[in-house]
Amino acid sequence: MPYTALVGGVAVLPDRLLEDAIVVCTKNKITSITQGRKAPRTAEIIDVGGAYISPGFIDIHVHGGSGADFMDGTPQAVRSACRAHGRHGTTTIFPTTTTGSRKQISDMLDACAQVKREKGVPNLAGVHLYGPYFAEDKVGCHSLAGRRSPSPDEYNRYFETGLIKIATCAAELSGAEAFYKAARRRRCLITCGHSNATWTEMQAAFRVGMRHVDHFWCAMSSVPSLRKRCDVPMQGSMAEYVLMHQRMSTEVIADGYHLAPELLEFAYRMLGPDRLCLVTDCNRALDMPPGRYRFGNRRDGSWLESDGHVGWAPDRTSLASSVVGMDHMVRHMKKTTSATLPEVIRMASLTPAKLTGIANRRGSLETGKHADLLVLSRQLKVQRVFIGGQELAI
Ligand SMILES: [Zn+2]
Ligand SMILES: [Zn+2]
Repeated sequence: MPYTALVGGVAVLPDRLLEDAIVVCTKNKITSITQGRKAPRTAEIIDVGGAYISPGFIDIHVHGGSGADFMDGTPQAVRSACRAHGRHGTTTIFPTTTTGSRKQISDMLDACAQVKREKGVPNLAGVHLYGPYFAEDKVGCHSLAGRRSPSPDEYNRYFETGLIKIATCAAELSGAEAFYKAARRRRCLITCGHSNATWTEMQAAFRVGMRHVDHFWCAMSSVPSLRKRCDVPMQGSMAEYVLMHQRMSTEVIADGYHLAPELLEFAYRMLGPDRLCLVTDCNRALDMPPGRYRFGNRRDGSWLESDGHVGWAPDRTSLASSVVGMDHMVRHMKKTTSATLPEVIRMASLTPAKLTGIANRRGSLETGKHADLLVLSRQLKVQRVFIGGQELAI
């Protein structure tokens, strides 16, 4: 049996760092994690020279990269976006839909189904059905034309593919409750997103399985936004609802442009690393020169401008998702918050794995789990990527 042993590094375990670690993989699984200097004699030895050995990252909210958006709906687009994120350390990915037509979403699902069977790409663990069920006043950078309320004859088709593992809908839309129930039957992580929901609407959604809110503070309700919608007395918003309920989780775009350091620290301290995920929410401009790009489908998606650091709406008055990979989010979170390295990595691996029900197979360095591993420099730059034990060319 061929063994590979990563030696001479610091393993990032969920709760601590393990110096002088030896991580042994057989075929596609991790078979042992020990400390010391001796690897199995028959193993192919990879000396990582003092670098970190980290679990691969898991991104539950990501739109594209390398010039491609998942909503382009072709296997080639899905492949190149997935590969681009692989180079930034994402070994498990949930391609995410935007607002768009039924045909565009179906094409996207078909393309994902095809690429899911391929090797040499990050593990495509499922699709995040994100658009089109957004609130009209909270579409953000998504095209308004492709937004609508949920209808069973539409979403049941998507659920029937078996690919949807994360399902988003704004809680205040008519039909939201039936949507959440259908998603719960499919055992999805159910999220309320692009929403101006009130406390009462969140309560109703929670009762039928909603447990997660997308990019915290972005395109979601706040006390002031609800005052406009419902007047006084001022009402609790999605933010307070998440903060107050232990069973609710959320995510942040930690690219340094969406949220100031104090908000990242606040989210980390209030929620802790087991209720907070790092996501990229990255669009097609990842690893592309600054310029104008479509968000969503390449023919009729809305326009965004990348300045090379972040995406902007064309008038530059609001942000339009990120243009960087998960490695950037991890570095930024580590640099600007008091979270420890195991905690930061956990927010990008084990926490999203648990929320999406794949933590028995992925998300941490643990015997028996898939050998989805990263070698990260001391500055947390991606040096090598292994997916199921196979090294990805980066
Ligand atoms: Zn969004
Ligand atoms: Zn998004």
